[in-house]
Amino acid sequence: MTVITRFAPSPTGRLHMGNVRTALVAWLAARHAGGRCLLRIDDTDVARSEERFVDAIRTDLTWLGLDMDGEARQSQRTALYEDRFAALRASGRVYPAYETGQELDLKRKILLGRGLPPVYDRAALALTAAEIAAHEAEGRAPHWRFRLDHDRPIEWTDAIRGPQHFDPKLLSDPVIRRADGSWLYMLPSVIDDADMGITDVVRGEDHVTNTAAQIQMFEGLGVPLPRFAHMALLTGTEGKLSKRLGSLDLDALRAEGIEPIALCALLARIGTSDPVEPVTGLATLVESFDFSRFGRAPARFDEAELAGLNQKILHLLTYEAVADRLPEDIGAEAWETIRPNLATVSEAADWLPVLSGEITPPALSEDDRAFIAQAAGVLEGLTWDGEIWRALTGALKVSSGRSGKALFLPLRLALTGHDHGPDMVRLLPLIGQDRALARLRAVGA
Ligand code: GLU
Repeated sequence: MTVITRFAPSPTGRLHMGNVRTALVAWLAARHAGGRCLLRIDDTDVARSEERFVDAIRTDLTWLGLDMDGEARQSQRTALYEDRFAALRASGRVYPAYETGQELDLKRKILLGRGLPPVYDRAALALTAAEIAAHEAEGRAPHWRFRLDHDRPIEWTDAIRGPQHFDPKLLSDPVIRRADGSWLYMLPSVIDDADMGITDVVRGEDHVTNTAAQIQMFEGLGVPLPRFAHMALLTGTEGKLSKRLGSLDLDALRAEGIEPIALCALLARIGTSDPVEPVTGLATLVESFDFSRFGRAPARFDEAELAGLNQKILHLLTYEAVADRLPEDIGAEAWETIRPNLATVSEAADWLPVLSGEITPPALSEDDRAFIAQAAGVLEGLTWDGEIWRALTGALKVSSGRSGKALFLPLRLALTGHDHGPDMVRLLPLIGQDRALARLRAVGA
């Protein structure tokens, strides 16, 4: 059976890290199994859903490299929901309820006050035809609840959490439709999962209780159950969902120069028993993906870890992978030379003056200036080739008697204007003979 997963965000805001992780894991699960991953826009909440967030979700997924195998929008599927709703109504699995929000609040408070779970008392099921008629005459429109079957426990084996067990009597019959006819999340999600042939529902553990009720909805609709995988929640370094993490969106990370693959590499592995590793493509993550590696403890998202991983990955990225984001003057050789010194791709531009522009000559001691003047003379007499740095420093070591830092640092400063940077063996040929000589002469004068 082809594995089909889905990522089902509500377009009521930007994707946050928890959503991104859910999307990634749903996608990895599908790709690992050679299956498909669908994007489902959960936009039944018309008041809170916005088109700009739908666009942002697509842009974010594209940036991450998570190509989806199809897209559906719940707002365009309401005819299907009506049809399945009618069937559930006919079989007595949904029923109208007339309580106001205030009345329900009061009921909850009373139960909680008595130390009891705030489970809906099903008063609506006991309404007589006359009472219903009276409500209708008052102009009260009903909202709709799904009637849970109390006769047997709800059980499933979660791909991450293992065996799950719920007593339906401890759950309220979920409200599935508002009085104005609009849909709440629960039932449309089940109808869609069934209709789209979703085999694996991957989502956060905040949905575990929903799953218990939804399992009965699948059964009520007479459709097969998908498998479920509920991921432990994501927390910040301080152990809870920090404000920063809650509001951190991908634009912010992009602006900081985080590579999408770095974010994926981190999010795919935190909270699992596999190590976080610098990978340069999603393929490695796809290959190693396994639900059984996921733990039940919260996954800690550490921005410092992300920055460190980003840097490691950057040092592995090929020129082809970044060429479209580099200044034109930085070619393959230059990229490979400078990448060990970069924290972000955009920092590459900082090395342009060194490679092909103007640098500020460093202020050196008289001694060092004399040494650099000597270096200019030596360089003039050398054959310029790929070994030029070794030839230059080898000759100067003999002629000046300098070694180590005293030999290398003034040269680096005079040639690059920096006291640290890429390997001079590779950098000097890129700077070029004329420019190198001019820089040495400028300092050694
Ligand atoms: N729209 C729901 C959410 O964002 C989807 C949950 C699910 O994956 O079923 O929480």
